[in-house]
Amino acid sequence: MKKITSVCPYCGAGCKLKLVVDNNKIIRAEAAEGVTNQNQLCLKGYYGWDFLNDTQLLTPRLTQPMIRYEKGGALTPVSWDEAIRYTAERLLAIKEQYGPRAIMTTGSSRGTGNETNFVMQKFARAVLKTNNVDCCARVCHGPSVAGLQQTLGNGAMSNSIGDIEHSKCLLVFGYNCADSHPIVARRVLKAKENGAKIIVCDPRKIETARIADQHLQLNNGCNMALVNAFGYVLLEEELYDKEYVARYTEGLEAYRETVKDYAPEAVEQLTGLSAQQIRQAMRTFAAAPSATIMWGMGVTQFGQAVDVVKGLSSLALLTGNLGREHVGVGPVRGQNNVQGACDMGVLPNQFPGYQDVEDAAVREKFAHAWGIDPATMDDKIGVRITEVPHLALEGKIKAYYIMGEDPLQTEADLGLVRQGFDALDFVVVQDIFMTKTAEVADVLLPATSWGEHGGVFTCADRGFQRFEKAIEPKYDVKRDWEIISLIATAMGYPMHYENNQQIWDEMRELCPLFYGVTYQKMGDMGHVQWPCPTLDHPGTPYLYTGNRFDTPSGKGQLFAAAWRAPAEQPDADYPLVLCTVREVGHYSCRSMTGNCAALQTLADEPGRVQMHPQDAARLGVRDGQLVWVSSRRGRVISRADVNERINPGAVYMTYQWWIGACNELTQDNLDPVSKTPETKYCAVNVEAIADQ
Ligand code: SF4
Repeated sequence: MKKITSVCPYCGAGCKLKLVVDNNKIIRAEAAEGVTNQNQLCLKGYYGWDFLNDTQLLTPRLTQPMIRYEKGGALTPVSWDEAIRYTAERLLAIKEQYGPRAIMTTGSSRGTGNETNFVMQKFARAVLKTNNVDCCARVCHGPSVAGLQQTLGNGAMSNSIGDIEHSKCLLVFGYNCADSHPIVARRVLKAKENGAKIIVCDPRKIETARIADQHLQLNNGCNMALVNAFGYVLLEEELYDKEYVARYTEGLEAYRETVKDYAPEAVEQLTGLSAQQIRQAMRTFAAAPSATIMWGMGVTQFGQAVDVVKGLSSLALLTGNLGREHVGVGPVRGQNNVQGACDMGVLPNQFPGYQDVEDAAVREKFAHAWGIDPATMDDKIGVRITEVPHLALEGKIKAYYIMGEDPLQTEADLGLVRQGFDALDFVVVQDIFMTKTAEVADVLLPATSWGEHGGVFTCADRGFQRFEKAIEPKYDVKRDWEIISLIATAMGYPMHYENNQQIWDEMRELCPLFYGVTYQKMGDMGHVQWPCPTLDHPGTPYLYTGNRFDTPSGKGQLFAAAWRAPAEQPDADYPLVLCTVREVGHYSCRSMTGNCAALQTLADEPGRVQMHPQDAARLGVRDGQLVWVSSRRGRVISRADVNERINPGAVYMTYQWWIGACNELTQDNLDPVSKTPETKYCAVNVEAIADQ
């Protein structure tokens, strides 16, 4: 029996664990002493490894390459040589006929690791010659990346997960940490024990609201109005740090001009909050010696998400809560390596290390390293995942190479996404399970899973952490980056790597932000936070030391914008707001957690529609009753979960349920900057299904 140190493959908390292995089989997981988790795990950490034993509880493992030679035909098992040859040939033909930008690719924010993401974006940029590479950050914290890059300079948490408990005030906005990051929720509890004031802004009575000093139960869809009202109070009551603002920020007058229309008294009806509640929240926030703002999908999955992110970071700037210990802004990233996927440049606008694709000098540097002519590189921002269905229907995207993503389960308005897929000529899925997307692929490329390979993840607080291989793969599968390299080679660009470290070192040489993060340093320190520019640099627990921001002027940018209503409003036919949320026992498209016996037993029916007793009574729905939930785009069956923690007028569903996924109902109103869909707000109806 042996114990292998790894990092949990689920959320961005980055918990370290030990996989106990006997005879190439994982027996159990134990908590390890990680910087972020300190010998604690949540239930996904303890029980989320079982899918490696191919339980087939939800869906089978992909065990060999397969090709569907004709549309509508069956998938045929083939050799790796044939799968690589066929994929390369089809991609070359599409590139030749329609151009490089007719091909879309994805990285993966899940168990594959940073090295693979680096290789995938290299494949897109150096082999296909397109910036069409993206990842699921697009549908979660894409607005945090875009917003924070503009106001502060870095699209990431400014602080550390471990430091949250030392802050004296936590403003928790649209973030249900108990369900999405249980180990981060422990830090919030510890902060409370340490005397911190907790202010929660959330329409539901989430777990954190139970320990909050103030719970602002705002109406769904009015985030920008509330954030503006917060700014109004800070200015009007002169609670802001005038000296800090004068020295380290820009844009105060424009900010003042916008928020002047958002006096708390003027937004009471819109927000559903009393002016007194709003004012009190900012008095508490501004009075705290240190304050941290944390947010999640309740901020980012709206059509006006980037503006709200910029507004929240402005609250930190106005009160001087940046650039030192125990303060900061914390967009707590969802999937275990979504920060890493962004770090590695699976973004259509940036190379690894957040270097812009539109910068000729940057392109020159990468072209030189990769042995290609910079003139042949794509100099425009590429396509985002959420744009693919539209562009496929317009005939502009013809091929889609999807690695470790399941857009046919996880993206908004699945009816539209299916139409887009139907319009594609060629779909390649590289994954570990037969997901909804894998079911429609023309080529299936089976990859090794977390547990069967090692590498590096980046957790939500910019911390790089190594994880190790625990077992030998049992099937005819290959490492993700090896598959990509074989296809690249077959397409005429020789690509070969011996191991993860070779890829990592190539990446470091090209990324000043990460240059000092060597394999050795990660091994010695366990957790190294970027920026880490030199070999003797210890990493950066908090950003913006000296209040020097990474913006062009070096100053923090204050920002406010007029509130925009969500795109679709409830009406007589669809009188309720649907908001998609998370479920503590399951993760993402559920292909991994749905195949873990313990997790499946604990929550075998995720996706129940949560509703307030008043709405249930009005609609004649009992707790536990089967219901139809319908929107203008579709109808799904679910079971009612009637409870007082839900605000009247809104219902909530998780997107993991396979039969009747709630993304059949959601709509793809996209934030204009980040192109993130508004999955937190659409109009639905709920109808009871009569008992048989
Ligand atoms: Fe894994 Fe997140 Fe749970 Fe930690 S909190 S054990 S990283 S799912």
